[in-house]
Amino acid sequence: MILFNKPYVTGKEIDYIGEVIGSAKLSGNGAYTKKCHEWFKTGYKMRQVLLTSSCTDALEMMAILMGIKPGDEVIMPSYTFVSTANAFILRGAKIRFADSRPDHPGMDEDAIETLVTEKTRAIIPVHYAGVACDMDKISAIAQKHHLLVGEDAAQAIDSFYKGKALGSIGNLGAFSFHETKNISSGEGGMLSVNDPELSARAEIIWEKGTNRSAFYRGEVDKYNWVDVGSSFLPSEITAAFLYAQLEQCKFIQERRNHIWNLYHTGLTMIAANGHFQVPFIPDYATTNGHMYYLVCNSLDERTSLIDHLKSQGINAVFHYLSLHKSPFFEGDHDHRVLSQSDRYTDCLVRLPLYCGLQDEEVEKVINAVKTWTERARSQR
Ligand SMILES: *Cc1c(COP(=O)(O)O)cnc(C)c1O
Repeated sequence: MILFNKPYVTGKEIDYIGEVIGSAKLSGNGAYTKKCHEWFKTGYKMRQVLLTSSCTDALEMMAILMGIKPGDEVIMPSYTFVSTANAFILRGAKIRFADSRPDHPGMDEDAIETLVTEKTRAIIPVHYAGVACDMDKISAIAQKHHLLVGEDAAQAIDSFYKGKALGSIGNLGAFSFHETKNISSGEGGMLSVNDPELSARAEIIWEKGTNRSAFYRGEVDKYNWVDVGSSFLPSEITAAFLYAQLEQCKFIQERRNHIWNLYHTGLTMIAANGHFQVPFIPDYATTNGHMYYLVCNSLDERTSLIDHLKSQGINAVFHYLSLHKSPFFEGDHDHRVLSQSDRYTDCLVRLPLYCGLQDEEVEKVINAVKTWTERARSQR
């Protein structure tokens, strides 16, 4: 069986965790947390970053830091993970869901401005599959209407928009180190704070609403409850695991990009027969080998492809279900039809992609897709 995902382990995780246990400093914001922070700041020119227990947590911090209040409106794509929306719903916001692009599951940038009202506070672009949204377009709309931009960069580590690291462009950015992401610590995440005006408060919310970080730097003589907050920081055990992965980031990314390119070369040729579309990467964007997906022509054809791959011992999976049609949100949606989001809900299929996947296995998947298209043609 070719699995859909297999978490990659570098081998150093256990050594670094052992070191943490020996150091008797297990709680958060210790030496490994600082090493991870430095790694991102120097590698991707990020101003300030804060590790969190998950990207879900980073998104919740984002919503608090943005000062989102009941009644405020937030614009985001419908085709995303529930956490993108939940973080803002928890603050009482009203979500206006935008459709996806016809050529990419990312949010249709041209659909954003029509959703802006006097109550809109923020735009949350999601860099689907690690492929950048058009950030210049989004930033221009944000500037014109005085909105904040929070990037959901959960899938977007080591990917770029016009040379700038994703997650470093909006006021804030949220990353995930869940086991399904390129770099993982089992569960884990990070908030990048690119807007200097949000910087001081970010640290306080991160540390349960206290000024403990400033206290440890010797900037205040006792630490106090100064704002709202929560326990967003991960333990040093998680940070140690993450650091072992970050050290191998270059290797992991080379391997994942290699697999992505093998798929893309093999499947672009087969796509010419009209059975599915392959990913489109705009000129301003890069791919980070996070995900390889196909978009079939219908739900039935996607089911047929997934079943065919399963019969060949290959585990391929579909992805999000449009959030505007979810049981939780449906009643609050404003009746707009989001046809592209629904199309990706029905037709998108993700192929196996992980660091340990062998070239021969990738060939096997490509061949299985090919035999499916041949069979589909002979059945017409
Ligand atoms: C994975 C993911 C999340 C959630 O990440 P967690 O670390 O599991 O909380 C949020 N948004 C997107 C787009 C994701 O892919």
